Amino acid sequence: MPTLSSASSKTSARRGRTAPELVFGDLWPFDPAPETADPKLKARYDLFIDGKFVAPKSGKYFDSINPANERKLARIALAGPSDVDAACRAARRAFEKVWGPMPGRERAKYLFRIARLLQDRAREFAVAETLDGGKPIKESRDFDVPMTAAHFFYHAGWADKLEYVAPGRQVAPLGVVAQVIPWNFPLLMLAWKIAPALAMGNCVVLKPAETTSITCLKLAEIFQDAGLPPGVVNFVTGAGETGAALMSHPIPAKIAFTGSTAVGKTILRALAGTDKRMTMELGGKAANIVFDDAPLDQAVEGIVNGIFFNQGHVCCAGSRLLVHEPVTEAVLARLKHRIRQLKVGDPLDKNTDIGAINSREQLKKIRTLVASGVREGATLYQPDGILPAKGFYFRPTLFSEVTMSHRIAREEIFGPVLSILTFRTVDEAIEKANNTAFGLSAGVWTDKGSRILKMSTELKAGVVWANTYNKFDPASPFGGYKESGFGREGGRQGLLDYVILKP
Ligand code: NAD
Repeated sequence: MPTLSSASSKTSARRGRTAPELVFGDLWPFDPAPETADPKLKARYDLFIDGKFVAPKSGKYFDSINPANERKLARIALAGPSDVDAACRAARRAFEKVWGPMPGRERAKYLFRIARLLQDRAREFAVAETLDGGKPIKESRDFDVPMTAAHFFYHAGWADKLEYVAPGRQVAPLGVVAQVIPWNFPLLMLAWKIAPALAMGNCVVLKPAETTSITCLKLAEIFQDAGLPPGVVNFVTGAGETGAALMSHPIPAKIAFTGSTAVGKTILRALAGTDKRMTMELGGKAANIVFDDAPLDQAVEGIVNGIFFNQGHVCCAGSRLLVHEPVTEAVLARLKHRIRQLKVGDPLDKNTDIGAINSREQLKKIRTLVASGVREGATLYQPDGILPAKGFYFRPTLFSEVTMSHRIAREEIFGPVLSILTFRTVDEAIEKANNTAFGLSAGVWTDKGSRILKMSTELKAGVVWANTYNKFDPASPFGGYKESGFGREGGRQGLLDYVILKP
């Protein structure tokens, strides 16, 4: 029988308060600390084509809502095939006449300027990112926006050093590239795509996710302020149909997609037989592996960061925890204690650890997979606490007694849900970690350097973190194996996906 245990200790009751007052993270009550910077949102966002904001030819718009309270934030233009065509043609003109022939040292100046202008408006962008996507303000403020600027800075540094991209070979840009990104890191995914493409001399047409288009269109304002020549970057907004029209348009020489494995496969099937270059950054089901010699308190912090960061809306989330049997009980007890302290709620509050789930559909998907975990016999633990009445929220969730056959051990949940499995030997840990269709990332916690080297050699994952988790740097390439995709973003390797190599 599935068992359900919960944090029934009634922390508030111990303090003489009644249970309904207990809210998440309420070991110590915090006063609300809302971020107050003005996100400077417009009521309506048009397409960004050829350096200008233009209405979609169909005249159609859709709503973008704040997942924290379900209120409408803005209307977003719905791009159809003719808008996509106009964007691709603008990009080709810009490539042929301006950006392609421009020396790399000149291109670099624009990328530096974009990074600096984003830094100037960092708080405004952080608030907009949190309103549109639901992630806690401390993450938008301390991670998403600074890392986005860092990617533009890093790639500005490459733009005038093309001879070092592939030593001994000449590199040339591909032309126009078509890019589609997901909703979990709207600004950062955009920077991962646009910055290397521009640095190498390509022009871009990009489609953001339909639930998170606002910061992308705000960045277009920065492109205008930076004087980026018209057509070098174009944004078309809309859902899957717009994305499909962009991916299959004849002008782009390359497509770069980040999103789910299912959609990635659809795109690959649709484009099979064309000569388009492709990179695919797809889903993951990472194993975070804790050995009995690991410093457990640090490991627990890393595990919590690995799965609850950004509500678990992270492709490389450490969603499967593999624990060495001798320390299973100790790790589980520490994890339960730790997640009782996580503050779930208003993403704009500076104390919030877990914000809103990005959309109603995503919340439904998380609930379905969690229900399957209970049905299939895993043991569920969720802390008590009151979730906000409006908006999309989900409690931090631990599943123990998980086996490799459970759906929660195999499928990407993309929410704050950790599936805990155990192992006895190093080989069993490697076997279980690699027993997945995905291969994006993994984590290892141990005191032994030799074990880290063995694990990082044998784990089939694009990134292996040791005694840390979710660490990123623009100089460090990121990408997957198997159904997690192909190609790399970041570092010198990421540049190679945006150039033609000549002898
Ligand atoms: P999704 O695949 O549903 O959508 C991604 C994007 O593709 C959106 O912009 C969407 O509008 C568009 N799209 C949908 N159908 C399309 C089609 N037929 N043709 C072209 N475009 C189409 O993914 P999501 O739910 O937005 O994002 C979550 C997924 O993204 C997770 O699986 C996650 O692991 C993955 N992801 C991977 C990485 C990585 O670097 N590997 C990074 C972030 C997210």
